[in-house]
Amino acid sequence: MTQDASEPFRALRMVKDEAGIRAEFQTLPLSALPDADTLVRVQYSSLNYKDGLAVAGKPGVLRSYPMTPGIDLAGTVMSCESGRFEPGDAVILTGWGVGERTDGGYAERARVRSEWLVALPPGSTAQWAMSVGTAGFTAMLAVMALEDHGVTPEGGEVLVTGAAGGVGSTAVALLAAAGFNVTASTGRPAEADYLRSLGAATIIGREDLPALKRPLEKERWAGVIDSVGGSTLAGAIASTRTHGAVAACGLAGGSDLPTSVFPFILRGVTLAGIDSVTCPMPRRRAAWDRLARDLPAERLSDVTQLHPLADVPALAQQILAGQVRGRVVIEVG
Ligand code: NDP
Repeated sequence: MTQDASEPFRALRMVKDEAGIRAEFQTLPLSALPDADTLVRVQYSSLNYKDGLAVAGKPGVLRSYPMTPGIDLAGTVMSCESGRFEPGDAVILTGWGVGERTDGGYAERARVRSEWLVALPPGSTAQWAMSVGTAGFTAMLAVMALEDHGVTPEGGEVLVTGAAGGVGSTAVALLAAAGFNVTASTGRPAEADYLRSLGAATIIGREDLPALKRPLEKERWAGVIDSVGGSTLAGAIASTRTHGAVAACGLAGGSDLPTSVFPFILRGVTLAGIDSVTCPMPRRRAAWDRLARDLPAERLSDVTQLHPLADVPALAQQILAGQVRGRVVIEVG
């Protein structure tokens, strides 16, 4: 059954015409939504780096126009033709191309495929889910990847790069919750206390990371969660200890990777790629269950700021400038 299905809804739309690409707040009928089996009343979305790129009109994220950005959302099901969910069920959606190839979370309604949806873990709220959001979900997948490759708290220091950002902040908190000795690398020394409050044992400046001068640097990290890419990732790989693992999540500092094969063939280092968008459903559910256990709302309160949808265009500029601390939840509904 569809509740108030005829009501128009508010959306942040990216439009493109002769004047260029711009963000516009529009009121739309439900018929403007894409075809799919499930209608969701969106309560919260979040701001991720990719959303910053999309809303700032940068190429590469939105595949067509007009489009509603917002790569994640949490809300309640209004109707579901597949029968997978009942009206009123609380659900989370991250990835699968929402807010890129199909309309996303910066609108009061979303019509999406039911197989993309994860049930909200018992005892948690839609606002909590979006304070985790795509960035926190990605951090969880990265921690799971390190563990899958044998990185344990007993193995020594684990490095998190881009630590004051969304992926980085939640990675620090998740690793600390799992008992790891976390070193947080940041370009913002003023965030040192914040990172310590999340559980980082050591804070180092971006510029203090062992630079890539040789194919193999002094062994230091048992594991690495990197959201920066470029020479930061290359330097981290070269400083990873024998049989350590590096989870590559992002490219906030660059998409190149100037490394060599030596860390892999002489130290058995594993480079694990993290793709939250197409993560298979069983792993998705496992990640969300663990997030609910290890990162409850009270542990995320210092990491999270809440903003209305109207703030998104300004916030997009801030996240691209590396000025956003932790996670930004967007109140949509
Ligand atoms: P944020 O902007 O919140 O965090 C990125 C952080 O990287 C910044 O806070 C900053 O940390 C650091 N940083 C930014 N610019 C530079 C630079 N030029 N050189 C070195 N460090 C820099 O973004 P998110 O956490 O949302 O995303 C981080 C990355 O992960 C992005 O590239 C994003 O696209 C990617 N991502 C990938 C996903 C996947 O599925 N693989 C899913 C989600 C995100 P500090 O100030 O502490 O130095």
